[in-house]
Amino acid sequence: MKKLGNYICGNWIEGDGEGQLLLNAVNSDPIAAATTKGLDFSSILSYARKTGNPALRKMTFHERGRMLKALANHLFQQREKFYSVSYLTGATRADSWIDIEGGIGNLFSNAALRRKFPDLPYCTDGDAINLSKGGNFMAHHLLVPKEGVAIHINAFNFPVWGMLEKCAVNWLAGVPAVVKPATITSFLTEAVVREIIASGILPEGSLQLICGSAGDLLNHTMCQDTVTFTGSASTGLLLKSNDRILKENVPFNLEADSLNCIVLADDVRPGTPEWDIFIKEVRREITVKAGQKCTAIRRIFVPDNLLEDAILAVGKALSQTIIGNPMNEKVRMGSLAGQVQRTEVKEQVQKLLASSQIIYGSLDSVEVIDADISKGAFISPLLLLNERPFSSVEVHEIEAFGPVSTIMPYKYIEEAVELSKKGKGSLCSTIVTGDNRLATQYVIETGTYHGRILVLNSECATESTGHGSPLPMLIHGGPGRAGGGEEMGGLWGVKHYMQRIAVQGSPTTLTAITQVYQQNAKGNVDTIHPFRKYFEDLEIGDQLLTAKRKITAADIDEFADLSGDHFYAHKTKTDFAGTMFERQVAHGYFILSAAAGLFVDGSDLGPVLLNYGIDELRFVKPVYPDSTIQVRFTCKEKIPQDKKEESDIEKGIVKWLVEIMDESNEQVGIGTILTMVKKI
Ligand code: NDP
Repeated sequence: MKKLGNYICGNWIEGDGEGQLLLNAVNSDPIAAATTKGLDFSSILSYARKTGNPALRKMTFHERGRMLKALANHLFQQREKFYSVSYLTGATRADSWIDIEGGIGNLFSNAALRRKFPDLPYCTDGDAINLSKGGNFMAHHLLVPKEGVAIHINAFNFPVWGMLEKCAVNWLAGVPAVVKPATITSFLTEAVVREIIASGILPEGSLQLICGSAGDLLNHTMCQDTVTFTGSASTGLLLKSNDRILKENVPFNLEADSLNCIVLADDVRPGTPEWDIFIKEVRREITVKAGQKCTAIRRIFVPDNLLEDAILAVGKALSQTIIGNPMNEKVRMGSLAGQVQRTEVKEQVQKLLASSQIIYGSLDSVEVIDADISKGAFISPLLLLNERPFSSVEVHEIEAFGPVSTIMPYKYIEEAVELSKKGKGSLCSTIVTGDNRLATQYVIETGTYHGRILVLNSECATESTGHGSPLPMLIHGGPGRAGGGEEMGGLWGVKHYMQRIAVQGSPTTLTAITQVYQQNAKGNVDTIHPFRKYFEDLEIGDQLLTAKRKITAADIDEFADLSGDHFYAHKTKTDFAGTMFERQVAHGYFILSAAAGLFVDGSDLGPVLLNYGIDELRFVKPVYPDSTIQVRFTCKEKIPQDKKEESDIEKGIVKWLVEIMDESNEQVGIGTILTMVKKI
């Protein structure tokens, strides 16, 4: 029997012994064996720390982002290979799309996230903090990539997405990964890792793969590592309590069982668009991936007077689901990942039946097409009814990880809120309502118990990404039973793999470290105007102190006429008693325009291509007629840009700090403006 490879320490290695036999979920044919026997788990982690980590951490965010983009493009080209393997897990093409293209989408999304970071290996976090009266002592929080490795122990249900959603984030942060997929579907993860390694896009040591038991891997972790786990609460607890994890304070991100729920609000009636949206969402959540989704809806709450209608409608929708061989195009629901999973689901349903009854589907039979029911891990979608959700425990505690959901009645929205929280923490919850007052109440009153809440109605339904889809830009994770972890979440997720440090010092030192000009830092005054310098030649801190300009009452009147802004404060004849001003005051936008007139040098074509906008702008002191203004103009930050087309001009964005002072050298305005500057 073919053995799956383990990619460790730069080589594909087979483990010793016969290993665990992995079977096709649809017909029980053997696929391969997985074993990690004989592997030295300590050297796997050392290799990641010594080889992968230094290579990744010295790259800038932009380089890492471009690497993710190249990898995403490569895997996207190869995706058909993965689809053909994915069928063996029992997944339909639509299920596999979530796993495969959803995973690749995470790489693309994190690649694009690079634009939110500087072109440096590290970044600042939050705003600068002034710590002194004189302005010469300050602090900034900094994020630097951890020196360890991200260890991902994944569940069987998303062999591709589960790896890529996590790795995309640790690679962007500059940290390598060791991936241990659930053994039963590891053959698909292995197929993807083979393509990743063969592409040569990642620096060596960025990714290692273990197909089979994790052995004593966690006993070799250290404080710079991060462990993420997705799977059952019991395994999660066992691993989280590992001695070494506790002693070294290794961050452990847990994502476990979650009894996600949907609430049909009582403003929705049968026959309305929201009703159909609700039924469709419930059917989809029960049948997609045969219900093997950590986010799937397990509990359905409907107003008690609509219970019967809802049962009929959900049952009718489920009856239209064709079950069978996932390779058959007519099939909408494939099999579970294996016979063991089917046995587990049935056992969990039996426990639920202590306080519920099956009202759609059967535990013992299922109609399938193009498949042999005695060989495949098929199961019927099951809708359970629990009429006493307040007194039943099971329905809020037991996760049947298959196409199983329980419908329950409630009387008032307050009851729905209480029932929703009885799950003791979930990954996501949905409320279907057209009433934004109800939506607000539900979100605010249940928000502490759910990682994500979807408010679904006819305004957003056609474009909604759905209850069950975690998105790379949003937090995925939930409190309590859901594990208390957090994955993804855009910028937020990257921070899990970086150390946050508070750095104190002078503004000039902090400018050098952060590569962002800090107020009061020493500037570099040059004979060449900063607008005459190309992107590469500009240095953070390049500074210009402009000539002065007197602001007259005539200027203000003319600006009012030109712009049409005749706000009372800009008129001479206003009675200023009881206002914030003493007399006619200049428009803030005029002061900024006048400032631009002082700092811009560009009457002939130069490296500055265009004005790109303003990040922040404050007018801090009124400018009255006959005041004189002057500008300190400083190169604050440089952000390179990639060319979209070959014919594009090579360029970057330059941020400038604009400090506008009056004749007493007091600041009247401060802003950050952006220009697009040509590269040489
Ligand atoms: P497990 O908790 O059994 O396994 C999850 C991962 O942990 C797998 O990679 C598994 O590897 C690994 N693992 C198990 N034991 C150890 C150990 N001692 N040391 C190191 N790694 C270990 O979950 P399953 O994937 O089998 O799913 C079981 C149940 O978990 C499901 O039926 C469902 O209820 C729940 N689940 C919840 C999810 C959620 O996010 N809410 C997602 C998926 C599952 P191996 O495969 O080699 O045993």
